[in-house]
Amino acid sequence: MTAKEVLTMARENNVQMVDLKFIDLPGTWQHFTVPIEQFGEEVFTSGVGFDGSSIRGFKTINESDMILIPDPGTAFIDPFCAITTLSLICNVYDPVTGKNYNRDPRFIAQKAEAYLKETGIADTSCWGPEAEFFILDHVRFDHSQYAGYYFLDSIEGFWNSGTEMNGHPNLGYRPRYKEGYFPVPPTDTLQNLRTEMVLLLKEMGIAVEAHHHEVATAGQGEIDMQYAPLTRMADQLMMFKYVVKNVAIKHNKTATFMPKPVFQDNGSGMHVHQSLWKDGRPLFFDAGGYAGLSELALYYIGGLLKHAPALAAFCSPTTNSFKRLVPGFEAPVNLVYSQRNRSAAIRIPMYSNSPNSKRIEYRPPDPSCNPYLAFAALLMAGIDGIKNKIHPGDPLDKDIYDLPPEEAARISSLPGSLDEALAALQNDHEFLLQGGVFDEDLINSWIEYKTKKEISQIKLRPHPYEFVLYYDI
Ligand code: GLU
Ligand code: MG
Ligand code: MG
Repeated sequence: MTAKEVLTMARENNVQMVDLKFIDLPGTWQHFTVPIEQFGEEVFTSGVGFDGSSIRGFKTINESDMILIPDPGTAFIDPFCAITTLSLICNVYDPVTGKNYNRDPRFIAQKAEAYLKETGIADTSCWGPEAEFFILDHVRFDHSQYAGYYFLDSIEGFWNSGTEMNGHPNLGYRPRYKEGYFPVPPTDTLQNLRTEMVLLLKEMGIAVEAHHHEVATAGQGEIDMQYAPLTRMADQLMMFKYVVKNVAIKHNKTATFMPKPVFQDNGSGMHVHQSLWKDGRPLFFDAGGYAGLSELALYYIGGLLKHAPALAAFCSPTTNSFKRLVPGFEAPVNLVYSQRNRSAAIRIPMYSNSPNSKRIEYRPPDPSCNPYLAFAALLMAGIDGIKNKIHPGDPLDKDIYDLPPEEAARISSLPGSLDEALAALQNDHEFLLQGGVFDEDLINSWIEYKTKKEISQIKLRPHPYEFVLYYDI
């Protein structure tokens, strides 16, 4: 849609408010709303000012004035506002330089797409994230200094007593342990909720392929969107999370995308399917190659595997992410690729032999990532692999969880903690700086934000399990 078409659409729908949304550094939406009469065509070129000083990961108080310029291609009618409201996703600009703000995650995603074209390797990248999530009834959550304590306590309490977590008394149709994937209702209590989410996504212009319950017992779900180009898919993922969370709240439930909310059950991943295209032709297919992959696709895989430890800083960017990345829960640990097994970091889906659907599935990411930064970083790693012809070695078509220890020891793994992932990023980020896509300021801000605001803060707080271990010491 062009700016003019957006304004026409607003008039035809009798829009009264315009909601401007943008992405903070960790990857959540922030917004403010203006009445429609304040909103003319010039906003699409000169923007609207706001104070960026209190936005997570953005500027300090002494250089806080910033500008938002909406992207007309992102317009949708917000289904959760009581008054008809037009929603637009914006880029962030610096009013002093008049240029894009270098820490605007959306700008980085756009630069990654432009860089791909510039290299001449491809003109489009396609992205299909499978974001999993939990729908829970109530969370006794305390934002005080012990934040998290009551949450974990209540989940373990529910778990041990066998109480149904999805809001109904336990009528005997609770999924058995690890069998949430995927019996029909009444065992699947979230069918209607997910369908409501899918219908809203469709109204907002997002094509959905399927929805289903996931493996975890405690109300885990997945909704799969049809693939789309990089920035568009990151926008869609923001819309997706918005819909999932708001539909859940509407039904007096709560949704979480945190990667491992429940101890000893499957976590929520966000496997990312990826492929490159040029002049409308898919570049990852070669009928004679391993798993139908072209040499270019193998080099792309080589880049992903080589940079996987650094990529984890953007793809698994929370301390909680590393509680998911452990053996035994369908989450990857090992840096290998395979057409078969789900314990590998990269899987080549074999559902179809069509050249157009040939893609690779990168499994380490989870939905706590900022999709703009994660997709951009993945693309940069893949491009690096192609430019430098980084061969990924032989595939490993065995269940890696069951390998004999000497064989397992030869396989490299993902970092074991967020600290390790950030250290890997510190040591390996040249590939991200190519074409000016990421810059040192962004990398340093990310490492500093994650270290000071998350890792250090968690280290300072007594953990609930410390009470189990040490209370009676
Ligand atoms: N929940 C699993 C994960 O954490 C993935 C399950 C699946 O293969 O869809 O990655
Ligand atoms: Mg899944
Ligand atoms: Mg998958």
